[in-house]
Amino acid sequence: MNFLQKVKKNILNEYFNSIFFNYYYLVSEYNSAQICGLVWNANVIAYRCKTCSISPCMSICAPCFQNGNHEGHNYNMFKSQAGGACDCGDSSVMHEFG
Ligand SMILES: [Zn+2]
Ligand SMILES: [Zn+2]
Repeated sequence: MNFLQKVKKNILNEYFNSIFFNYYYLVSEYNSAQICGLVWNANVIAYRCKTCSISPCMSICAPCFQNGNHEGHNYNMFKSQAGGACDCGDSSVMHEFG
């Protein structure tokens, strides 16, 4: 293998490595996205943010609400009557910035 071929091969390797790492990075970032999934029982305080929600029945737990920046949002705190689940990170019911 001559020098140029070697360089080419290295460049290709690096190229594939960077794709792999970018992909890996994206995947790991996706996995670490804040999907809480907390389930709570009745009579627990939860929050509902109209600014962030797509679905009217979305609700998030207090820690997620505090972690998200909902300042100036149209939100309300409510006592869950029948229990519920945290929709934080579920982009089907709330906007991703929530
Ligand atoms: Zn939560
Ligand atoms: Zn909000």
